[in-house]
Formats: sequence, structure tokens, C-alpha cells
Amino acid sequence: MSLKKYRERAQLLDKNDPLAAFKFHFFNPKNVIYLDGNSLGKLPKRTIDSQANLIAEQWGSRLIRSWNESWISMGERTAQKIAKLLGAAPDEVFVGDTTSLNLYKLAFAAISYSAKRNEIVSDDLNFPTDLYVFQGLINNHFPNHKLRLAKSLDGMTITTNEIKELLNDNTSLLSLSAVSYKSAFKYDMTEINKIARENGTLTLWDLSHAAGAVPIDLNGSNTDMAVGCTYKYLNGGPGAPAFLYVSKELQAKLDNPIWSWFSHKAPFDFSPNYAPDKSIQKFAVSTPTILSLDPVLNGVDLLLEAGMDKIHVKSVAQTNLLYEMISQELTKYGFTIGSPENDGLRGSHIAIIHEEGYRINAAMINPSSKDTTVVIPDFRPPNSIRLGIAPLYTSFVDLVDCVERIKQIMDTGEFKEISSTKPKVV
Ligand SMILES: *Cc1c(COP(=O)(O)O)cnc(C)c1O
Repeated sequence: MSLKKYRERAQLLDKNDPLAAFKFHFFNPKNVIYLDGNSLGKLPKRTIDSQANLIAEQWGSRLIRSWNESWISMGERTAQKIAKLLGAAPDEVFVGDTTSLNLYKLAFAAISYSAKRNEIVSDDLNFPTDLYVFQGLINNHFPNHKLRLAKSLDGMTITTNEIKELLNDNTSLLSLSAVSYKSAFKYDMTEINKIARENGTLTLWDLSHAAGAVPIDLNGSNTDMAVGCTYKYLNGGPGAPAFLYVSKELQAKLDNPIWSWFSHKAPFDFSPNYAPDKSIQKFAVSTPTILSLDPVLNGVDLLLEAGMDKIHVKSVAQTNLLYEMISQELTKYGFTIGSPENDGLRGSHIAIIHEEGYRINAAMINPSSKDTTVVIPDFRPPNSIRLGIAPLYTSFVDLVDCVERIKQIMDTGEFKEISSTKPKVV
């Protein structure tokens, strides 16, 4: 099929898209096709108003009175919405701190709880911060522990069997990213949780690239623990607070390694002695970050309004269309596809690989002509360009435009004018 035919097909798909109107809930900069919602989600328009009110009215006028008027319950309200999105009970999710910190707290708690076992299992597709957290825990606190990594044979996927082979009577913790940040490979959480449970191993999932991108059922899949990010598909804004989940049955067994006033059962008694809260709040550390929680609330609301089922149907249709167009139109320029072909095995982005990946990505973001549409994907070393799809605001035609623009860059050799020096944030 030619790009012209793909465009006609995409226009029809957009016309019949039940989520098409959601795009207008977001701030959409002119002449920009944004395919990086998997790294930083777009700004919901309602967040502009609620931030203005929060700052001018609640902080400016009401000052400290706002804590009791609305702020102190904001974390819990946000957590309950995230719980709904992820198939958890409302009292199983906490929102606050960051993904790395939450991972640290829960991994520490799980390793301490299963003290007789001394192996942690993860995989080499996992996000670096996750691996660093495990390495640091072993180095600083659990010197007899070992980290064992399942190795991806194709750099893209890992089979359940490869995980199973690493589990033994010594495995205390199995921690994986549900959707891999580079290839978008998606694990079957239910299946993995089952083999971990049979092995007496606790599971800790990182949902950063999964939450808001694929349907997650924490209770239905028998997940022990999870953490995740809210500034990607949940559109919570740069550095927004992360979430953590601990199943109800496990909550009493795990201790937050950071004893602090907000994990105390009565912080405002100001007692000099620590006594942990019994609820999920026991995993808190500090004063809730009110200004950053508010956008998360708005972002998650939009996902709940659209419905994860519809979002997923659209995501699958979009990743399939993109996959097909890349195969047809871009492989002749030396691109290979770095994401699974089977849509049941992937999340909501497609990675394309090219030895000039860095400069091609840079040319998409900074076209040499002012009149050319800016397409924003992102680059992951050594040579992947990630094309992220956020079905709430990505249209089918956006994907055709993206492929057309990449073709143009390859045909003209425009990327050759770009320096190979990378900026600080890629
Ligand atoms: C984005 C992401 C993080 C981010 O961690 P922060 O502590 O919020 O910076 C962690 N893990 C994964 C898998 C991610 O994709």
C-alpha cells in the first residue's frame, strides 16, 4: 500500500474513532506531532485552570487553612483513582515520592521480609534505575544477596520460561517492568505472578510504561507489589509524584524502611516515638507535594473518562498500523523494528532501529525548514527511536505524517547536517 492509501485508511479510522474528541482536552502546540507521551505526557487543559486556582486561591488566599479544607485528602483521592485504573482496591495504592524511591522502599521491605532467601531476579531489559536500586540495596544493606538477570536473546523480548529457570528456593523477589521502556515488550503478569507464587517469591512490578497504556488488573493478576510513574501516560506533568501498590494481605507484613512522620500512625500528635500506620499510608515519607498531585488527579480522570478498554483497542490498532507502515515504507532505508510484531506482546510504542538513529531523531525534532511539521519521538541509546502512541491525543493520521517525514529525512539526507553531540536530556 502506498502512503497515499495509508493516509486514506487513517483518515477513515480517525473519523470513526470514539476517542477522537479527547485530543481537545489537551494543549496541542501548533505544527507539532507529539510521539513522546511515553516519556512526558501532554498537558491537560483542565490542569491549567486547576493549577491557577490551586496557586492563587488555595495557596495565595487560604494559606495553611487549605490543608484541612482540601489538601490533606488529595493524595488519597488521587490514589483511589489510580487504584481504579489499575484494578486495585482503593486502600491498596499510595501516591507520593518517585518511582525510584517507591521501588527502593518496597524492594527493601520485601527482601527484609523474606530474609532466609538471598536472590533477586530481574531482567536485562529493565529500566536502569530499577537495576541500580537493586545493586545499591545489595551493596549497602544486603551483602549476601545476589541479583540474577534474565537475558533477552533478541534484545526485545523474554520468555516466561527464561524467568522460570532463574527462580529457585532462594529467590526472595522477582521484579520486572511490565512493559519494557525500550522495546515495549509486555509480560503476561498473571502467568509470571503464578510461577513466582508457586515458588514462594514476591513480585514487584514497575508499571511506568504500562499504566495508562495497557489494561492492568493488579488484583485479578495476583500482583504482590507494584510501582509506577505518573508523568508518562497518566499526563501528570514533569516529575509528578509516583504511585505504589501493596496487596492488602501483604501490607501488614512489610515495613517501610524509611521511618518518618507521614508513615507514623498519628503524625500530628508529634510523638517522639515512632509507631507506623497500619494502612497503605505506612509507605509514605513526607508532606504530600500538593502542587504536583493536582495534575495527576486531572490526568487520571481523563483516562478514566475515556476507559482503559477503549484506549487499549485504539492503541493496538495504532501500533499495528504503524508497524505495518514501517515494514512497508522504512525498512528499505535500513531501519529494523525493535518491538515485538505480536500486538499481544507489546505496549503502546514502537521502536525503530537505525545506525543513524540519533541524528534522524534530532532531524525530526529540529527540521531544517521552518515550514516542516515538527515530529517529536525520542532516542534511546545505542540506536533506537521510540515512537510513542498515547491514544487519548495521537491520531491515526499523525502516524502517517510521521512515517512520511522520516521518509523525507532519509530521501533528502537532511539528518547528515545534524551534529552527533547529544543534549543533556535525550
Ligand atoms: C520512567 C521510569 C522510571 C522513572 O523513575 P523516577 O524515579 O520517576 O525518575 C522508573 N522506572 C521505569 C521503568 C520508567 O520507565
